[in-house]
Amino acid sequence: FNHVVLLCRSGFEGECSAEIIDRAAAIGVDGYCKTDKRSGIVVFTPNKPGSALRLIEKIPFSTMIFSRQWFAAIEQVTDLPPKDRVGTLAQAAGRFPRCKDLWLETADTNEANSLSKLCKSLQKPLQIKLKAFGALRASGEYRLHMLFTSGTSAWVGMSLPGNDAPWLGGIPRLRLPKAAPSRSTLKLEEAWHWFLTPDTWGEELKAGSWGVDLGAAPGGWTWQLVQRGLKVMAVDNGPMADDLMLTRQVEHHEADGFLFEPPRAVAWMVCDIADKPARVMHLMSTWFVNRWCRKSVFNLKLPMNKRYQEVCKLLDQLQQNCDQHNIKISWQAKQLYHDREEITVMVRLLD
Ligand code: SAM
Repeated sequence: FNHVVLLCRSGFEGECSAEIIDRAAAIGVDGYCKTDKRSGIVVFTPNKPGSALRLIEKIPFSTMIFSRQWFAAIEQVTDLPPKDRVGTLAQAAGRFPRCKDLWLETADTNEANSLSKLCKSLQKPLQIKLKAFGALRASGEYRLHMLFTSGTSAWVGMSLPGNDAPWLGGIPRLRLPKAAPSRSTLKLEEAWHWFLTPDTWGEELKAGSWGVDLGAAPGGWTWQLVQRGLKVMAVDNGPMADDLMLTRQVEHHEADGFLFEPPRAVAWMVCDIADKPARVMHLMSTWFVNRWCRKSVFNLKLPMNKRYQEVCKLLDQLQQNCDQHNIKISWQAKQLYHDREEITVMVRLLD
């Protein structure tokens, strides 16, 4: 396997490239990236051929910020004959060992999305053919990916389930709940899908515990916490949705989120204030250094330039601040499908 193919938000190919080059170098694999502007696809090629699979097995996917999905590939299959795409792709994938399922994907761009119909029509026939070839079997360890870049070309490769995104194209398909006061609600829900393991939601979002929502109005994030049975201090000078206030699980604090101090430590603090990322990160440090919350999900708006470097710098600062005060934390960060010019971070107190 000579390449790692990564999917990212269109427009963030530079950040996704810088990140994989850094992360690969950290485990001794040098290489370079190729990408087309706004394609949503980055191809990393290690200088030493054959090291791509090791790379996607060694780097924890959960630590990648700008990549939504990844897999190791041999080569791009081009010139797919429209009359026999299935045969050609099956032949290409027939060389891959031990795959248990097949994912047909596209990048997240308007042009690429128009290929999803093709993906749907090829899924069944490809599965049948691959099973007949012995390339797909229930006992397989890997996941087979085919990423269509046009009607006649596709990257074919594989990932290790558990160290990739558990959704096609790295996009959890979430439905906007009718009762939620804003679309932003999906951002917090998506963050939980990325950052919490599915069977621990009940434990992590314990009914009856308290949360603080900084920059809460009209209440999409508060709504998520309320749905889980939490009580919420919603901090915003703007109005909260009436229905949410009627639940009696919400206290509205008309205050500045940068000055608000909770009357007691809480389980969760979430923050969706759109402000300078350094200012928001400083606020987050204050909360953790003072142990005002045990867990947090917050957004960081990205600056115009050097976005990857800036994100690394801010996350480093958070870690250093906590280290200096002997506060043990862990963090994860991701550019979510519902994030635009921003990333979402989750931090937890460890003791
Ligand atoms: N998460 C909310 C939701 O799901 O409905 C949307 C939040 S909106 C993107 C940002 C909010 O931050 C606005 O309601 C704004 O009034 C609030 N805000 C901006 N600066 C603030 C500050 N210093 N303190 C508290 N809230 C602030």
